Amino acid sequence: MERLFDVVVIGGGHAGCEAAAAAARLGAKTALVTHKIDTIGVMSCNPAIGGLGKGHLVREIDALDGLMGRVIDQSGIQFRVLNRRKGPAVRGPRAQADRELYRCAMRRELEAVENLSLIEAEAEDFEIEEGRIRSVLLADGSILKTGSVVLTTGTFLRGLIHIGSKTIPAGRAGEKPAIALSDTLMNVGFSLGRLKTGTPARLDGKTINWEILESQEADNPPVPFSFLSQAISVPQIACHITHTTKETHKIIEENIEKSAMYSGQIEGVGPRYCPSIEDKIVRFKDKDRHQIFLEPEGLEDDTVYPNGISTSLPEDVQEAFIRTIPGLEDVKILQAGYAIEYDYVDPQELKVSLETKRVKGLFLAGQINGTTGYEEAGAQGLMAGLNAARLADGGEAIILSRSEAYIGVLIDDLITKGVSEPYRMFTSRAEYRLSLRSDNADQRLTPLGIRFGCVSSERQRVFEEKSAELAGLIDLAKSIITTPNEARKKGLPLNQDGVKRSLFDLLSYPDIEIEDIQKHWPEIDHDDPVLLEQLSIEAKYAVYLDRQKSDIAALARDEAVILPDDMNYQEIEGLSNEMKQKFEAIRPTTIAQAGRIDGVTPAALGLLLAYLRRKELAA
Ligand code: FAD
Repeated sequence: MERLFDVVVIGGGHAGCEAAAAAARLGAKTALVTHKIDTIGVMSCNPAIGGLGKGHLVREIDALDGLMGRVIDQSGIQFRVLNRRKGPAVRGPRAQADRELYRCAMRRELEAVENLSLIEAEAEDFEIEEGRIRSVLLADGSILKTGSVVLTTGTFLRGLIHIGSKTIPAGRAGEKPAIALSDTLMNVGFSLGRLKTGTPARLDGKTINWEILESQEADNPPVPFSFLSQAISVPQIACHITHTTKETHKIIEENIEKSAMYSGQIEGVGPRYCPSIEDKIVRFKDKDRHQIFLEPEGLEDDTVYPNGISTSLPEDVQEAFIRTIPGLEDVKILQAGYAIEYDYVDPQELKVSLETKRVKGLFLAGQINGTTGYEEAGAQGLMAGLNAARLADGGEAIILSRSEAYIGVLIDDLITKGVSEPYRMFTSRAEYRLSLRSDNADQRLTPLGIRFGCVSSERQRVFEEKSAELAGLIDLAKSIITTPNEARKKGLPLNQDGVKRSLFDLLSYPDIEIEDIQKHWPEIDHDDPVLLEQLSIEAKYAVYLDRQKSDIAALARDEAVILPDDMNYQEIEGLSNEMKQKFEAIRPTTIAQAGRIDGVTPAALGLLLAYLRRKELAA
């Protein structure tokens, strides 16, 4: 059977769902092909969305009308803003999910998307003609004709599970790996590498001694992820905290050789920032305990996810060490922890649109590009889906700069630097993080989404109303002027320098909060806490944001200098062979990107600019 689509997305994980929905939102006739429709939106590892850096990505996905924010708002059972006591730029919204509610909500969202067909099948091969994708071949023999494919196979490419010395070919527990597609990619000439990640055992909550454990409550009220959600109606639960003990460490040390990671059985590199418990014990020998969060996997589910003890030790050793942990002395293990190795494609094979340089019309997104995490996958999926639809429509690629979004930082890091270990997002990766906050993701990105046509009319309306109210509130705060004397009488700590200041200026003082202003100037009578918080953040950051503007303008200038696709680096006089090789391998699209390639010198950039100028003059 043959069917025709504008865009075909392979894989119904976190990247695939966003990619399919985004392509369809742009009006492309889209198919989402995945092994099992029932596993759409399954969380392979921890049942949580967001966190530091990752929460920013979710808000950005939402600002462009992606699904993840809305889905977690329908399924989150413990919302917490991490780093609440630190500056707004590094605060990270996070929510633990009810796995089942998340999966069902994602499926519901996808089924409601117009132009989207869900196809349960295995994608096995591509038909490529003259360097261009023509169709996707399914294992049941059917053919999907298309010019744009987004491949989002996660940990499934030649996936291999390790539990001690036992190995099981699988994409994740209980699901078969994708072997044929890995061969296809290799035959086309893609550079594939091997990475690994791991997951802890799952525990039966009925057998945990909760009484003796410290509990951690949800924020009250919970702060939603989506700019469209008014409030969270899912009941909120507490998590509990426990720690490993000296006995735990002793058992792991005595059995370290049995761990698949330490026996030499695993060749892939694991995530440094999300290490297995074996890794933690070997690397941080001086620490005599490690924290573990016991996170219920659902409201109606007794399964508990012990966050912090992923492992590839044999099952009997897992059971022995877990039972040395306070509260878990009599615990029943429902599923053993495991490590998984999988193929990834070197992301330097990609253009900034996430289209591969090697095959026109083939886009890659998610864990296949060497990242780890649902949020990183979702963010790439969104951009790859949008760009696959734009390609199908003959439009230009949609690109986000590092100064506009964490999504821009993520993609630029991947394609410019490649990966040597699974890549995850941190706020420290963003040089413009004062402006790239999670609270203002809609202000930064929804206008772009409206321009690209990927945002619903409902979101556009909500955004425009909020923007008008925020602008009105800021204007009001700027228009009310006070003197230091008047402020002092109200008990506000201001320099008695005679300088008149607006309420907006007053809010920039670290000791003056919005509540102080509202108490003394009832004109600031707005009651939406989100808008009041944004007013306060804008005021506190105003000076820094002004300073950052010149850096962002300099970046924009460099981003405007385009390096053509067919740039012949060999003919640039004075450029060393090493630089030529780097530029040839990565083929940066702008002078800004060229400058970020490791080891590229200012002199080399000068030569590129001079070459471009000569070409321009000659043209
Ligand atoms: P996935 O969510 O893996 O989805 C891939 C989808 O593609 C699946 O639906 C699959 O059925 C489908 N598929 C694959 N091949 C084909 C094919 N040929 N035809 C049709 N369908 C296909 N992240 C963290 O941040 N921290 C962690 O600690 C962590 N630990 C993990 C531990 C394990 C054991 C695993 C498996 C993952 C872990 N992750 C972790 C990663 C997280 O699960 C992924 O980053 C995220 O799910 C990647 O999303 P994705 O969309 O790229 O792929």
